[in-house]
Parts: sequence; C-alpha cells; structure tokens
Amino acid sequence: MKRITLLTALLFSISFFSYGQTFYSKHFTILKLADGIYSAISKNGGYAICNAGMVDLGDATLIFDPFMVPEAAEDLKKASQLLTGHKVKYVINSHFHNDHIGGNQVFDYAEIISTEITRELIAKFQPEEIADDRTAAPLQLDKIRNINTLAMSPHELEENIMWSGYYEAMVKYNDSLKIILPEITFNDRLILHGTKRTVLLLSYGAGHTESDLFLYLPDEQIAFLGDLLFIQNQPWLGDGDPEKWKTYLDSIGHLNLKILVPGHGPVGTVSNIDSMKLYFESIKNAAIAYYKKGILPENDLTLKSPPPWDNWFLSNFYRPNVISEYTRLYKSKSACAHDHNRPE
Ligand SMILES: [Zn+2]
Repeated sequence: MKRITLLTALLFSISFFSYGQTFYSKHFTILKLADGIYSAISKNGGYAICNAGMVDLGDATLIFDPFMVPEAAEDLKKASQLLTGHKVKYVINSHFHNDHIGGNQVFDYAEIISTEITRELIAKFQPEEIADDRTAAPLQLDKIRNINTLAMSPHELEENIMWSGYYEAMVKYNDSLKIILPEITFNDRLILHGTKRTVLLLSYGAGHTESDLFLYLPDEQIAFLGDLLFIQNQPWLGDGDPEKWKTYLDSIGHLNLKILVPGHGPVGTVSNIDSMKLYFESIKNAAIAYYKKGILPENDLTLKSPPPWDNWFLSNFYRPNVISEYTRLYKSKSACAHDHNRPE
C-alpha cells in the first residue's frame, strides 16, 4: 500500500513538474505546471536572477515578470512563442524592482500591466538605478571576480556565481536599458479574459514593496507571486513592511493554492509561506535584541546571517534586513530610505 502511494505521488509530481517543450536558455529552466502554464526558473550565473511565468490564454500569451535585461527577456519571448504558439499580448510587472522589469523593452508591442503605485515607483527609481549602475556595477563585478573563491564554502561559491551573473548583465546592458512604463494600471483587481482561460491579477497592497501584485489562476490553483514569496532565498525587506507582508501572505494562504511560484527560488507550496513568516520573526527578534542591548545593528560588524538562514541564497540580505527592521520598529519611517542599488 505504501509503495503504491509513493508511486502515485511520484507520477503525480512528474506530470505536474515535467519539463516544458525543449528549449534551451542559459538564463532559465522551463517547468510545465499545467496545460499552457509554465514557470521560467532562473539559472545560477545567468542574466535572470528572478523567476518568470508564461501563460497561454488561448488566443494570446501572458508573461509574468520579463526578467532584468533584454538577453534573458528575448529567450523568454522565444520560449513563450514556441510553447504557446501565440505572440505575447500581456506583460505583467509584479513590482518595481529592476530584476523583474528590465525586460519590458523586448515586449514593446505588448500591453504592460502593473499596479498604479508600481508604475510610479518604476518612474521614480529606475532612472537613478540605471545611472548609478553605470559606475557601481563594473566595480562590483571586478570585486566579485577578484575575490578568493578558494576560501569559500560551496554555498558561498554558488552565491558568488549568482552575483557575478547579475553584475555582468548590468554592465553589459547598462547603456541599452530603456525604461518602459506600464500602460495599463489597476489598484486591487484586474481580470484578463482569453479564449482558453481567465486569469486574475490581484493586489492586496503593500508587502515586499509599497505595492505588489500576483497572478492567480483559480481553476489550476496556481499563483505566480513575484517577490511576495522567496523560497530558499532570503527576502529583501528594505522596501517593504514585514507586518503588512505577513497579512498579505495569510490572505494568499486562504486561496486554496496547490502551486506557488516564488520570485526567487524553486516552485513550492503554501508550506513555504510558513517559512517566510518564521524568517520575518527571526529578523524582528534580532532587531529587538539589539534594542534591548542598546546597540545599533549597523554598528555591529559581526552581524551576519545565522543558521538556518545562512543556507538560504541571498544570505547577504540578513544584515540590511535586521537594520531596516530596527529602523521600522524604533526609528522614524522617513529614515528607512530606499536602497536603489540593491537588486532583489
Ligand atoms: Zn523584489
């Protein structure tokens, strides 16, 4: 009986997470989640550090988060046309961070959609981010390439490869990046009707940033969550509010979802929401401990990610996350500045 159960579970998982039609990209791996629904999971060292989605609406294709530079977005465009047989009609920007929106320019014929606030944030921060990267990205890339990798753990080495890919892409495409703002915006709910399926874009407000949206496919019980969910990756808290974010995730948890596609990391389930909430709790407790000791976390040079979070990717986010949480809890809100050099 147990064997049959295991075999059934194995077959179920293979059919659910089988590879999509053959398409090679050095930037991502395609996973077929259901008929006409695919996730593009970033490959370490490539020019896509976040995940994207491709959805066949029947007569048109939707792209969720078109990556950060044209090269990765071009591959996504080719893959989506191969998999669905249609041109891309809609491109969704889940939030304003550059790793999720830089590929907009590849889809200049499509309708780009975001929340109203996200559009404002792209217009506000993206120009200075690109300008700053003109000098910062080459320096960061040089630093990463000259670091002594022999002293690194396998985990640190993998992270170094990821950042190397990120900064290489930023250097290579800095001059050709164009800021393409979404033409269609909404506040809390937008429904897109195709001949094959209807999909929902929902926003419950602030979480990872001042405004985040997610793509909800109720019939298939799948959601593409952008950076509302990180799996085996530390989330970036500096532009959001962990308390609102927890409430947001609780609401998502009530949607009876089977498959959750995070902004960073492998595809998961609702159990991964609990891991995120434990992480928020850990960061909050660390900030409270500094307050009780009368020490500013930014003055503690030993502050770095403890277990178990040090095994998650983006481990260098732990320190700024504790500092931003301390600021949120104990300093004025205005002191919590946006760090536009931080990709996440
Ligand atoms: Zn983000």
